[in-house]
Amino acid sequence: MIDLARFFVSEDQLRLGVVEISGDDAHHIAKVLRLQAGDVVECVDPQGLVHVVRLEKVGTVVQGQVEETREGLQESPLHLVLFQGLPKGDKMDYVVQKAVELGAAEIVPFTSRYTVVKLGAKQEENRKKRWERIALEAAKQCGRTRLPQVGEVYSFAELVARVGETVSEDHVVLAAYEAERSAGIAQISGTPRAVSVIVGPEGGFAPEEMAQLQQAGASVITLGPRILRTETAGLVALSILGYRWGDLG
Ligand code: SAM
Repeated sequence: MIDLARFFVSEDQLRLGVVEISGDDAHHIAKVLRLQAGDVVECVDPQGLVHVVRLEKVGTVVQGQVEETREGLQESPLHLVLFQGLPKGDKMDYVVQKAVELGAAEIVPFTSRYTVVKLGAKQEENRKKRWERIALEAAKQCGRTRLPQVGEVYSFAELVARVGETVSEDHVVLAAYEAERSAGIAQISGTPRAVSVIVGPEGGFAPEEMAQLQQAGASVITLGPRILRTETAGLVALSILGYRWGDLG
């Protein structure tokens, strides 16, 4: 099947079977992909429905007619959230891209005691925009039909509070701890509909931080006998979770 170019559209871009695309996506269609009237693209709406659209007008505003609509099949049945300790350099770009491919619905960076990176408000805002762009491109590339969210940078206290609000029968929260030697994902019982996994920065977690996460309801897990880089650990966890309760493997 030819891979059709895919665009995420809002409700108001899709009216009565007609799609209207402007801005960067219209530029991409007209100038980069050089598509013309008669060509076909896919548009995904906020409900995750995939619309096959035949282009009728290509320019700074692109218009097309919906020819077919179908359910998207590329969303994991498991709602996955990755809380990633803010890593150094541009590792977060990589983590966002891979987490989207692995089906994460939300990626939330956080700072903690051993986080090296300190971002000012403006830097945080710019990084968040950058990560959202990376998430959008990765979602288009891998065929997602729900746009993964990139959260604001949480403080550790905000992370602990979010864990307390999240934990339930249906939503398991896992804290990957490099000092944990026995409990792994295999020991988690039941079939959760959602899993959040927390991964520390390069410097790892202080024992007190792990205790706070546990108190809030997180389950501490090991990801195996070797110390994984921070940018590896989240992806290993998402892969195992996707295999166990999601749609991988
Ligand atoms: N500074 C820590 C040390 O030297 O022991 C290493 C931290 S590791 C680079 C970054 C994060 O990845 C950890 O905080 C943890 O969340 C996760 N991680 C890495 N290896 C892990 C393992 N074998 N089991 C559980 N989590 C692991």
